[in-house]
Amino acid sequence: MPRGSSLKVGISGIRGIVGETLTPQLVTTFAEAFGSFVGPGSVIVGRDTRASGEMVKNAVFAGLLAVGCKPIDVGISPVPSILIKTNRTDAIGAIAITASHNPVQWNALKFVGRGGLFLNRYEAQELLDIYHQSEFALVETDLYMSVVRDDDPVKEHFAAVLDYLDVEAILKRKFKVVYDACNGAGSTFTPRFLELLGCEVIGINNVPDGVFPRNPEPKAENITQLCETVKAEKADIGFAQDADADRLAIVDENGRAIGEELSVALAVKHVLSRERGPVVVNLSTTAIVDRIAAEFDCPVIRTRIGEVNVAEAMIAHKAVIGGEGNGGVMVPAIHPCRDSFAGMGIVLQMLAEKGKTVSQLVSELPSYVMVKHTVACSTEVAHSAMTSLRKKHTQDGTVDTIDGLKITYPDGSWIHIRPSNTEPVMRLTAESPSAERARDLPRRFAEEISSLC
Ligand code: MG
Repeated sequence: MPRGSSLKVGISGIRGIVGETLTPQLVTTFAEAFGSFVGPGSVIVGRDTRASGEMVKNAVFAGLLAVGCKPIDVGISPVPSILIKTNRTDAIGAIAITASHNPVQWNALKFVGRGGLFLNRYEAQELLDIYHQSEFALVETDLYMSVVRDDDPVKEHFAAVLDYLDVEAILKRKFKVVYDACNGAGSTFTPRFLELLGCEVIGINNVPDGVFPRNPEPKAENITQLCETVKAEKADIGFAQDADADRLAIVDENGRAIGEELSVALAVKHVLSRERGPVVVNLSTTAIVDRIAAEFDCPVIRTRIGEVNVAEAMIAHKAVIGGEGNGGVMVPAIHPCRDSFAGMGIVLQMLAEKGKTVSQLVSELPSYVMVKHTVACSTEVAHSAMTSLRKKHTQDGTVDTIDGLKITYPDGSWIHIRPSNTEPVMRLTAESPSAERARDLPRRFAEEISSLC
């Protein structure tokens, strides 16, 4: 990859290959811009377990200090813990240093505003303007603050999750749980959380050294070691996280990965059975959510892709549950952010209350097959390709164009097509009660897109 092409600057933050495009100079300058954007005050800084994390963290400190902010160093921390601490303390913002599920050579800064939500696209644009115009609010020496250490990054987070759960009910069951943290931010915090719920805990890939033993995306094909361990240990359930512990995948008691989409589906079913209210998910999340919400007579609001879009819609619609289908369970009563810990707690509570196994809970959900596909398409032509697709397919079914093109057909099948924000590809996600149709839909559209790109 040529120098320069690996730096991604976008609404979700900046991301690059460390030492190539993500340099200490660049990180410091962005931290100066962020500190100027939020103003002087406490800014929480946490990171995942990547080896480059310390370098990036110290470069962030320099930038924040230069503009009069007080960095609160929480060290290695799950992303939801950073967001919740921002929300529940007097912090005016946070910087999460994590490239999430990207390979270990990458790192990234994700910017969090007051209240503990990631910056939305308008705020991100304002931050980028400050960066590009170098309008930094540098302070005089007498206004310099010091870095403050906070050794308990998960304190506010775990308190909020435990407060939400029926801890007594879970404690009684003494579940046997295997977790796979991918040597990421969940490595040491996940057993602590599960032990608070009375679980017997077995950990794999739980050394927080940032050497990823598997692909960090907790997709079924990447978590076979967890599946085998759950089976061998005769555990009740297995949990897999990504490197920054916001996404959750579940393995049933037979050692079968049930699929990331079902983390959100199970959480929706549990929460709606206790409290009726709106559900907010993104456009690519499984239609199982709509089927469950219909059973409880609750509305489903669909948003653009991107955690902050779901979070803002959750607040606007007073949602009770939702998230992103790729394992991102979001519980607004805890905090509107993707939270693998909230997801784990909810599923354990379901098991405790229903007295059923994970596979039994899954068998009670509607059955759908989801197929994902990418098609090469340069950023230059992606826009016109989307325009022609939209024109051609307006009559096909129910059409939604808030983020690319989503068509929902009368038989319940759907396809969502959108240009990637980070790569020169179109992303296609299709789902259907019929496996054949789930495979056929993206194949058909891929051919059409290739002819346009
Ligand atoms: Mg993540």
